Amino acid sequence: MTVAGLSTYDPDNVFARILRGELPAKTVFEDENVVAFADISPKAPVHVLVIPRAAYVSFADFVKRASGTEVVDFFRTVGLVATQLGLDDPGYRILSNIGPHGGQEVAHFHVHLFGGHPLGAMLPG
Ligand code: 5GP
Repeated sequence: MTVAGLSTYDPDNVFARILRGELPAKTVFEDENVVAFADISPKAPVHVLVIPRAAYVSFADFVKRASGTEVVDFFRTVGLVATQLGLDDPGYRILSNIGPHGGQEVAHFHVHLFGGHPLGAMLPG
């Protein structure tokens, strides 16, 4: 996929810098492939970002270039993090913004995990 401004991985994006330990983060989970940490500007009582350590620009880039095993393991880990955070009951929301129309600000693939209170309508308006 070619998305204007998001088609090339920038190794200096903020999440790459968090992965290298150059910026601090409140990490809630990590293994050899995946890291989850609190969003710096939370939009819900629980707002965690789950990211692969590997360099993918977006969800679209990830599902295009990653192996099936990587994709399955990543999304299983998103579910595991939600479970570990106690979100399975009464539920939570995952979201991934892709490209300019998706409102993606950080060009390292990430899934937002929201929970901790009723989240309301899927999109405003
Ligand atoms: P996007 O719009 O790309 O889906 O979301 C990027 C998210 O990254 C935003 O929710 C924003 O608050 C978060 N964010 C941006 N910079 C930092 C940072 O330095 N540390 C953390 N923990 N989150 C960040």
